[in-house]
Amino acid sequence: MMMMVSEQTQASASLAGKTTTDVVSQSTNSLVVDGLKEITRGLLTVLKQHNIDPITLEYPEVMPDLSDRFHGRLSLLSKSDGTDLCIGCQACARVCPCDDLIQIEMHRDADKKPVIDRFTIDLGRCIFCGNCTEVCPVDCIKFLPDFELADYSREALVLDKKDLTLNGEESDQWRKEHGLAVTVA
Ligand code: SF4
Ligand code: SF4
Repeated sequence: MMMMVSEQTQASASLAGKTTTDVVSQSTNSLVVDGLKEITRGLLTVLKQHNIDPITLEYPEVMPDLSDRFHGRLSLLSKSDGTDLCIGCQACARVCPCDDLIQIEMHRDADKKPVIDRFTIDLGRCIFCGNCTEVCPVDCIKFLPDFELADYSREALVLDKKDLTLNGEESDQWRKEHGLAVTVA
């Protein structure tokens, strides 16, 4: 194969009145010029980026400043006094596109007030669509900015009422940060 190329090069060179050395030298020069052009282009790109602030963060040392609307871990807000805000209407469970992902059991006390006995959300199957947060009539189920949700088993991702519920103070803080009426009784 090498012989064929070499013979072809010699034949073309002699036709153009050039020696084989001239042709090889010309092609080497053009490779060097192309290489230098690419190196210069790369250096210019680096210089151009040098004065631009990076958009990446050194996570986890530096945590991102997330939007108020970030869809992180789901939570249940309480009333300001720490009692249940959820009325057990099941609207969130019904609107959730993932079957039985939200499970709620409730009963009514002697005053006909709803008491939530069980509220679980399987975060391992949640697609963080936000349907449940939009449909809740009492602004109870909401997203937190917490995105570090990895765990060692699927079971650990099923959060119960205790895992989900924010106390009265935390709930008021959430409402304050999101422009809702702070005190809920
Ligand atoms: S965010 Fe979407 S998928 Fe997740 S619990 Fe709510 S409705 Fe279901
Ligand atoms: S929609 Fe709201 S009030 Fe109704 S069950 Fe879900 S969290 Fe509770």
